Amino acid sequence: MPGAPDPSGRKARTGAGGRPRAASRRAVAPSWEPLESRLLPSCVVSNIWPTNQIPYAIDPSIAPAQAAVIAEAIDEYHDMTTVQWVPRAGQASYVLFRSEGYSLVETASVGYNQAVDYVDVSSAFDASTGVPLMLHEMGHVLGLLHEQQRYDRDDHVIVNWQAIDPAHDDAFAKVSNPIFDVGPYDVSSIMQYDSGAFSVGGRPAITRRDGSLIDQATTLSAEDVSTIDGLYPAPAGQAQVPRLVAAAGASPGEIDVSWFDTNGGRATYTVVRAAPGQAFRPIATLPAGSTRFKDGTAAAGTVYQYRVTSQIGQGTSPASRIVSAATIPAPPAGVAAAFEYPGPVTLSWSDPSGGLAGTRIERSLDGGPFSVVATLDPGATSYADAGAGLGAAGTAEYRVAAYYGQQVSASAPVQVVVSLQYPAPADLSAAAQGPSTVRLSWADASPRRVRPSYLLGSLVERSLDGSAFQPIAAVAAGTASFVDPAVPPGSLASYRVVVNGARGGTAAVAVAMPQAPPIALTSSLLPDGTGALTLSWDDPTGGAATSFVEESLDGSSFATIATLGPGTTAYAVPGLAASGATYWFRVHAAILGPSSATPAWVSPDSNTVAVTPAKAGGGVGPAGGGGEAQAGGGVAAAPPSVLGVVGVTRRDGKVGAVTIAFSEAMAPAPVANPSLYRVLGGVLRRGRLAFTRKLIIGSVRYVAATHRLTLTLRAPYRGPVQVSVSVVPGSPAGAGGGGGFSQVVR
Ligand SMILES: [Zn+2]
Repeated sequence: MPGAPDPSGRKARTGAGGRPRAASRRAVAPSWEPLESRLLPSCVVSNIWPTNQIPYAIDPSIAPAQAAVIAEAIDEYHDMTTVQWVPRAGQASYVLFRSEGYSLVETASVGYNQAVDYVDVSSAFDASTGVPLMLHEMGHVLGLLHEQQRYDRDDHVIVNWQAIDPAHDDAFAKVSNPIFDVGPYDVSSIMQYDSGAFSVGGRPAITRRDGSLIDQATTLSAEDVSTIDGLYPAPAGQAQVPRLVAAAGASPGEIDVSWFDTNGGRATYTVVRAAPGQAFRPIATLPAGSTRFKDGTAAAGTVYQYRVTSQIGQGTSPASRIVSAATIPAPPAGVAAAFEYPGPVTLSWSDPSGGLAGTRIERSLDGGPFSVVATLDPGATSYADAGAGLGAAGTAEYRVAAYYGQQVSASAPVQVVVSLQYPAPADLSAAAQGPSTVRLSWADASPRRVRPSYLLGSLVERSLDGSAFQPIAAVAAGTASFVDPAVPPGSLASYRVVVNGARGGTAAVAVAMPQAPPIALTSSLLPDGTGALTLSWDDPTGGAATSFVEESLDGSSFATIATLGPGTTAYAVPGLAASGATYWFRVHAAILGPSSATPAWVSPDSNTVAVTPAKAGGGVGPAGGGGEAQAGGGVAAAPPSVLGVVGVTRRDGKVGAVTIAFSEAMAPAPVANPSLYRVLGGVLRRGRLAFTRKLIIGSVRYVAATHRLTLTLRAPYRGPVQVSVSVVPGSPAGAGGGGGFSQVVR
């Protein structure tokens, strides 16, 4: 009979005997070892084991990770078939799982050999290689050949011999007689090669008849189970392995273990349990037909392992697969939530497990579905939720639960609601208050029914010159005004106020007041009253402002005579009549608003420059002749006019002193208190705007309509130097500003 087992076939396992495969081939043939079947037939029917109990042993060469895969495969056989893998107890015939370092593929003996059957795994075999591969090898041990070796295989699959590695074509050899075929052909069998098995050249080694590829099976197929159960029926009265064992936390003090009664009510059951790091110990023996056990002795926060065995008479089944569970933890207590704009929402709770349970936090926005936003390790008692989209939500609702492993506590009692939406403030207005100060005010639009705990502070946001809004300040609840003290000069500042997260609410626009002048208006009229008049000044806004030049003739009201675009800092005054009349000039700057014809900001007036063009042929006509006679009390002082440099003292060719002249105020603006003027001067070198030396001249007593003052440099300079002087009336209060000039001395 072609059924006699051939010992030489077993010894010549593929991969052994000096035929180790190149490692690169393994990638091409990742699936199954080629069964040694060249010396077929080996009859699956006559090679089955005498009983359904297969003794096995694990060789020390098997690594722990490999043993875990073997154990899982045994569990799958127990869960699905009548075969019972039992640890060897002295039997001469048994299966030895071992690892041979030189082997690059997995091999197995076929069927019962009345000696030692081997399952040899390669050194690379581990969990990533997979349980299905071990199921396949163990199928060989039970006597199964490859599905594609069936006699009728050509009716179901196409073997592409040109695509098969010749070293392994024996795995594709058909059996010689249909009597070896058990059941129908099953392309999904665990014993069926997939299309990539031992293929070469990138082509499938085997396909279905229609050419479609065959995938690797992941577990025993229904036909596999039927075949194995048929070959290895359970004897009457044998205790069967409990199947479908499950464990789950039932309450804070209980774990529920359940299983399927494989024995039809004839067997009693024993539950064994292992605490972490400890051995399995029986914890319950249950009456016949039992299908569940409630473990009420489980400690909180501990993951236990359970197995179940069945007993009939003196017989005990192999242990079921291991399942694990922990009790359901008690839910967190005292959950509280707090929110302060702009967040985050802060959750806090106490942990009844004393640090054993982790915490799971779910959130619902605006009444939507809950989703887990955080899973925290044991020991946490607070969480700050700054989750995306929170700021736009109307409400955020949380559920906080405790968990051990997969066991999650109830969370319904700990829901909290945090309001994130708030009416926007109304009637926001903004007004410039100083050189770089803007004051905001608004009305609190919060509804009266809002709970006081929700009345939170506001946030002031600012945009400069159209840039994005940025928070600049947080103000306390109940506050309805804010002063922005630091607006950059010349900026257009827009503001909005956000209350309790109500973004994008009311916005208001204001223009920041740039730093105020001194504009330091100067003129080019010579001290003797002759020469063209050009006014020049500094632009304190750095080119942002429009300048307005105003003129007054002999004390009449000032009127605008020129409006000059941004960046202009000089103006040539046309058509001054040389009639002895005195012209006063002043300048102010303004920034025009974005949407209004009226200026959004207007600077104070500059100092005033007074000039008196000399009459034709006349003498020096400094402004203000006879002005002192107009002195009178109670009238604000008018600014003095500075006429310029009238003398230079040189030493060794260097500028040592400069004499300037200035005039006091003139009618009709008499000097109220003619006692003092204050003169500040400085020297600039080489046109640089920074003072290289500063001369504090001190004060000069009022003596006449026109004053002369000599400024002595602390150290002589080799010219040219630039002399800049400002003259400010003394008390009272110097109303009307000062005069000044800047002139180069060579
Ligand atoms: Zn195989």
